[in-house]
Amino acid sequence: MESSELIRLVMTIYLLFLALTLGSFINLAADRLPRGESIIRPRSHCRACQRPLNIVDLLPVAGYLIRGGRCATCRASIGIGAPLVELACGIAMLAPVLVIGPFRGAVLGLLFIAAIGVAAVSVCWRRLRA
Ligand SMILES: [Zn+2]
Repeated sequence: MESSELIRLVMTIYLLFLALTLGSFINLAADRLPRGESIIRPRSHCRACQRPLNIVDLLPVAGYLIRGGRCATCRASIGIGAPLVELACGIAMLAPVLVIGPFRGAVLGLLFIAAIGVAAVSVCWRRLRA
């Protein structure tokens, strides 16, 4: 593998990780902003039992799969929306990066993720206010 290919691979993995993490943050924002809650404090927790989430719970997509879609403590359902938003963000970044390259693809991917963020918060806002 040439060094330019290695750099491209490392950047693609990094951008995918960034996108999944942004998806996780979008879930937090979509859950809290419509309720008028802070997006900084308290740290992420289960809404049912208030247990702070640990590193396994916070892994985008994988945390949902490892926990079987439920809180590890109280078994409350997490809901399929959270991993779907994370997955959508991953795809929104990965597709342009693979098609047009890591640099221009990252810019387009971030624009797609911003659109997903606005849509997710809007949907949750309307659902709460309806
Ligand atoms: Zn819980």
